[in-house]
Amino acid sequence: MPALARRMSRAKPSAIMAVAEKAKALKAAGRDIISFSIGVPNFLPGDHVYAAARQALEKDSGQYGSNRGADALLDAFLGHIEALGLTGYTRANCSTGIGAKHILYNLAEALLDEGDVIAFPTPYWTTYVDIADICNARAVTLPCPAEQNYKLLPAQLDAALAEHKPKVFLFNNPSNPTGMVYTREEIAALAKVLVKHPETWIITDDIYNTMIFDDIGYHNFVHVEPSLRDRVIFVDSLSKTYGMPGWRVGFMAGPEIVAKAHTTLNSNHITNIPEVTTAAAVAALSGPQDVPRERTLEFQQKRDQVLAVLGSVPGLKCPRPQGAFYVFPDISFAFGKSHNGTRINNDVDLCNALLEAKGVACVPGSAFGEPNALRISYTCPTAQLADGIERIRAFLTELA
Ligand code: PMP
Repeated sequence: MPALARRMSRAKPSAIMAVAEKAKALKAAGRDIISFSIGVPNFLPGDHVYAAARQALEKDSGQYGSNRGADALLDAFLGHIEALGLTGYTRANCSTGIGAKHILYNLAEALLDEGDVIAFPTPYWTTYVDIADICNARAVTLPCPAEQNYKLLPAQLDAALAEHKPKVFLFNNPSNPTGMVYTREEIAALAKVLVKHPETWIITDDIYNTMIFDDIGYHNFVHVEPSLRDRVIFVDSLSKTYGMPGWRVGFMAGPEIVAKAHTTLNSNHITNIPEVTTAAAVAALSGPQDVPRERTLEFQQKRDQVLAVLGSVPGLKCPRPQGAFYVFPDISFAFGKSHNGTRINNDVDLCNALLEAKGVACVPGSAFGEPNALRISYTCPTAQLADGIERIRAFLTELA
């Protein structure tokens, strides 16, 4: 039999899915399992989204559509980003895809040649590494441990850009897995550094942009340094903020040349987003915004609920997230200890022991390039969340 491509020996199934599968198997075997593993929003979009989809189904032409995205969808997206302060963009600056994951792959193909460097902070969303690998690019990670609140520092960025001269700097705000959100001042300080390195494209994967707490607000490099508009590509999606992960709709806005390249890749890969999905997406973006607004408030309360319990665990460091629906505690104090005779050497041991002993599934931080932590995705109902977090607290305080 001929061999698969060499890259397939490096590609590995998602660590997040592995935890989720194990939790599912234990549940099927009758165990009482609470899963904090998968980053799904756990709510549905408003009725108007389904009504628009049904209506579109009745009129569906069944034909191919625009490679860039239907005008109505591009206009709805432009309205949405204007509300985020990203003004002055036109349809020619935008393109659409099958979720942000697809948009990011398209952008990597459009911007990276073999051997080029793509730099991004650690902890990172797992797929960034796979994107680099599939494009035969070289990933350079910039470590941002809990001690610096999982946030990239300007001097660190400056040094990395000077040393590695990346073709692409990939930035994620709010962050999956940490839930951290950059303030306007922090964004401004990083933007100042980016201005000094004109050879680097900047992708801002900001798909949790409306899911921000504590009135901190959404900030992008182009807000503070308009000259960066020539190099910044903003990526968005309906998956998390609108509760529509399975609908698979993503967007980009940036320089016309990039939007055009993205659209060309669409013509080669997917052709278009289906008509019914397009109608649902337009309704989500331009209809009533109570679902994303209310769910953000709910997640803020859940964040507080999680932190209140984790804060009582001696030794646990937990930077305070201000967006998305993740908490990313540093659990390194537990390494070298044991739980009921099971020794915990690292994050994977801890997640396995926690699942076995207490029936709670979390994702080891090493899946995100930070082996001192674990990720808790807190989208489940409040009562279940309270039970699960209490089990984590009990587990951690039982370590000896
Ligand atoms: N970027 C980040 C930071 C994410 O967390 C995710 C989803 N987990 C994506 C991109 C991909 O989202 P989509 O469902 O739109 O492909």
